[in-house]
Amino acid sequence: MIRAVYPGSFDPCTNGHIYIAERSAALFDEVVFAILHNPQKVPTFTIQEREAMAREALSHLPNVKILSFEGLLVDFMRKQQSKIILRGLRALSDFEYEFQLAQMNRQLASEIETLFIATDARYSYLSSRSIKEVFRFGGSVQKLVPPGVYRRLREKFPLPEEDFTEFL
Ligand code: ADP
Repeated sequence: MIRAVYPGSFDPCTNGHIYIAERSAALFDEVVFAILHNPQKVPTFTIQEREAMAREALSHLPNVKILSFEGLLVDFMRKQQSKIILRGLRALSDFEYEFQLAQMNRQLASEIETLFIATDARYSYLSSRSIKEVFRFGGSVQKLVPPGVYRRLREKFPLPEEDFTEFL
C-alpha cells in the first residue's frame, strides 16, 4: 500500500489544489490531503473551516483522507508512515521555493521523496491569495474554486450589494 501526502495551507483550497489531489488519487493507494495549522500565522480560514471545505470538495475521491498537522512536515510523514510528499507546480516561479523546501526536507529526512505534479494550464495562474484578493474587490471567482469554498468566501467577505440587501 503506497500512501502519499499532499501538504499545504489550503487557505482556501482552489480548483488547482483539487486537480492535484485528483491526479494523485489516481496514482497512489491513499493520499493524505494534509492541511498545515501554523499557530504563528493568522490564516483567513480557521483550520476547521479549511478542513470542512476540503472534505466537501474531495468527497468524490474515496482514497483521499483529509487531516491537519502542526509542526514539521517530516514528523507528520513519519507518523503517517509515508515516504512521498506531493507538491504542485504552476510555473517556473514556484520552482525555486519548492526546490528549497524539498532539499530542506531531504536534509531532515533523507528517506522521504518529494514528487511534483504539473498543474493543468487552466489552473496555472490560480493561487489561494489571488482568489481572496479578486473576490474582495468584487471579481468573479465562482468557476475557480469548489462550491463550498465560494459559499464560505461569500459568508466571510460579504459583497457590498449583499450587505445592502440585508437592510431592504
Ligand atoms: P503552501 O503550502 O506553500 O502554503 P498552498 O497551500 O497554496 O501553498 O499550496 C499547496 C501546494 O499546491 C503547493 O505545492 C503549491 O505549489 C500547489 N498549488 C497551489 N496552487 C496550485 C494550482 N493552481 N495548481 C497546482 N498546484 C497548486
